[in-house]
Amino acid sequence: MSTTSLWLKEPHEGLPRSRFEGRAEVIVIGGGVTGCSCALTLAERGVRVRLHEARQIAGGASGRNGGFALRGATAPYDEARRELGDGRARLVMELTERALDRMEELAGDAFRRVGSLRLAFDEDERDALRREHDALRDHGFAVEWMDELEPPLDRMYLGAILHPRDGALQPARWVRRLAAHAANAGAEIREGERVTIEELDADAIVVAGDGFIPQLLPELPIRATRGQVLATEPLRELLYDRPHYARGGYDYWQQLPDGRLVIGGNRDVSLETEDTDVEETTVLVQDRLEALVEQLVGYRPAVTDRWAGIWGTTPDLMPLVGEVRDGVWVAGGYSGHGNALGLACGDLVARAILGERPPELAAFDVARSAAMRQAPVDGS
Ligand SMILES: Cc1cc2nc3c(=O)[nH]c(=O)nc-3n(C[C@H](O)[C@H](O)[C@H](O)COP(=O)(O)OP(=O)(O)OC[C@H]3O[C@@H](n4cnc5c(N)ncnc54)[C@H](O)[C@@H]3O)c2cc1C
Repeated sequence: MSTTSLWLKEPHEGLPRSRFEGRAEVIVIGGGVTGCSCALTLAERGVRVRLHEARQIAGGASGRNGGFALRGATAPYDEARRELGDGRARLVMELTERALDRMEELAGDAFRRVGSLRLAFDEDERDALRREHDALRDHGFAVEWMDELEPPLDRMYLGAILHPRDGALQPARWVRRLAAHAANAGAEIREGERVTIEELDADAIVVAGDGFIPQLLPELPIRATRGQVLATEPLRELLYDRPHYARGGYDYWQQLPDGRLVIGGNRDVSLETEDTDVEETTVLVQDRLEALVEQLVGYRPAVTDRWAGIWGTTPDLMPLVGEVRDGVWVAGGYSGHGNALGLACGDLVARAILGERPPELAAFDVARSAAMRQAPVDGS
């Protein structure tokens, strides 16, 4: 059975209506964070841009995720330095920090800049987090190490990194607001319109589909990956004041200001079946999530919402941004880490279409697709 998220159920106003005469210069497929960000940048530059969303704005991963607004990409910073080199790793980190600043400007009360806590589940993870902490501090990024954790975390985890400039999102509210900014700037947004590349006519077409990219551009090395989430009734106490995540991102949760716990992950219980573009929950993963709730809360609160969403994973866990076919562009493959990166990459692909060459594009170059083998990879 297909699902909807707690976030998407929030009542909301319709989008400002914007229609232009004549042919669109750029058409964007997908009304998530990437597509809306791309449309906003183009509309602000006076480009006639139309966006088609098959369902509703934020109906995909952008309105179904855990609401973690994190800097960086999926790989830990020490690994990114090794894989990308110091210069590129720093560029990507700075890009996402700027994206979080921009999110704060645009999102209003959909974004709470409360930091995030990445917890060490065992000694190996503690060593890995220490390496990441040291690599970040060495490059001058704000980061804190925590040995002392509050109960019940002190029984379950061995330490943590605090990322003080990350934050928590109501992601559907945020992306609806981003879409409204784009519409106010002149972008034409059409919801309920599923399109194919072949039927569209524009100077440039942008596929902004993350987990849906394999359906539209099967030649790219992007794999549809399912994540599952649940939300509880409001808890008696406020236990978690910022997003928390552990086990390499396989466990993640945030408590909302109204007391509800939103918790996701645990796809590692069945990685094969979670490699899918079917937006459905499973008993296996949901049972694991409920067991984790009990550990974190001390009892089993009622579960009010369960949902699934699809993101796109690349073999090297870095997004792909650029021109794939003549006049057809892509931005996606955030590998489970798309809230800040999606905002940044939607803007980058728009600027690339306008002929700019921001230096960060090199880290996301689609030319590396040919060399990447589709291999199973980890990711939350
Ligand atoms: C369960 C889950 C938890 C996650 N947690 C986090 C997190 O906490 N932090 C984080 O940074 N990232 C997280 N992510 C990843 C993040 O949500 C995504 O990477 C990001 O939202 C991708 O945005 P997007 O706009 O590129 O794609 P999407 O938001 O998926 O938007 C693509 C849109 O394209 C539409 N579409 C598809 N095909 C067509 C078509 N043919 N015509 C028209 N429209 C079409 C879809 O309906 C969809 O709305 C999570 C993802 C999931 C699923």
